[in-house]
Amino acid sequence: MHKKLFIPGPTEVVPEILEAMSVPMIGHRMKEFSQLMEEVVPKVQKLFRTRNFIVVSTSSGTGLMEAAVRSCVKKKALHTVYGAFSKRWLDISKRNGKEVDVLEIEWGKGVEAEQIEERLKKGDIDTVFVTHNETSTGVMVDLKSIGEMMKNFPDVVLCVDAVSSLGGARLETDEWGVDVVVTSTQKCIALPPGLALASVSEKALERAKEVENRGYYFDFLVFKKYWDERRQTPTTPSISHIYALNRQLDRILEEGIENRWKRHEEMAEFVRAWAREHFELFPDEKYLSVTLTTVKNTRGISVADLNKELAKRGAAISNGYGTLKEKTFRIAHMGDLTMDDMRWLLNQINEILGL
Ligand SMILES: *Cc1c(COP(=O)(O)O)cnc(C)c1O
Repeated sequence: MHKKLFIPGPTEVVPEILEAMSVPMIGHRMKEFSQLMEEVVPKVQKLFRTRNFIVVSTSSGTGLMEAAVRSCVKKKALHTVYGAFSKRWLDISKRNGKEVDVLEIEWGKGVEAEQIEERLKKGDIDTVFVTHNETSTGVMVDLKSIGEMMKNFPDVVLCVDAVSSLGGARLETDEWGVDVVVTSTQKCIALPPGLALASVSEKALERAKEVENRGYYFDFLVFKKYWDERRQTPTTPSISHIYALNRQLDRILEEGIENRWKRHEEMAEFVRAWAREHFELFPDEKYLSVTLTTVKNTRGISVADLNKELAKRGAAISNGYGTLKEKTFRIAHMGDLTMDDMRWLLNQINEILGL
């Protein structure tokens, strides 16, 4: 039996989109492909709320996290760390030989604009890395206030991991002044995994020109060159994904981006209320994620057993991440899931646990 995915990626993919993946192939150097890209990219810009350059990468989101590091960090990066994914970004910088400063925050909380501002005053940082939605803890940060604070540091590039938020939670790339926004397509955008997207500001592109050893596959400037000259990607992309993305963006724009954000908020409120009634929320109330809820396992249930029972009923949720396994569990409400799905899921859990 198919298990409906209430996990923070990959998310459920609707049949129409699965079908859109299986159309006959075209060549990536044919004009048909350039036409497809010219159709898709403006829709991606709408979703990102930006006029910036769009990177379409055949990789998972981590690939473009690496691209941001390789293309943007000239001398020294500031990494804000409050969970497994923000920690991974720090690791990527270190492995690329970048000099780093780390701002560590207790898991369950997120970074604040003032904390970043404090570190920037020294004047040695050229790139700041922020994770909008830390999927390991279910924490979402106030990116708007961070972006606004960063406007006082015009030489510093702001890179944001929006892998598990873009398309589900409000993110105003241009208005908030975010230079690089990275996302995967298998989370809130609800496509099969294998494609990643980023928006890159003029400032970030100018910075890249000053950075040495950017590599090839994940160099923003290589992507830009192929877009400018041919409306194509530098290497053979997953064309099937781009067809599906085109169709899915039509669906998203038809729903309306604001409506999509609202649907995610409604689902979040609903799951939080259930969690407060029967358990507790893991994150500090100030940082609750709109796209997934991390529940503190105050009843000492076996999360693994719960998931086994859910599997029999055709659903899957996520255990806690890493050291938070069994101490927490995570219910994702992202992508194309609806309030009906969430009601159904929580009813199943109530029945299984006798709540
Ligand atoms: C899922 C996730 C990633 C990793 O994305 P991949 O597409 O698996 O590379 C990175 N950051 C966050 C916040 C995530 O949720």
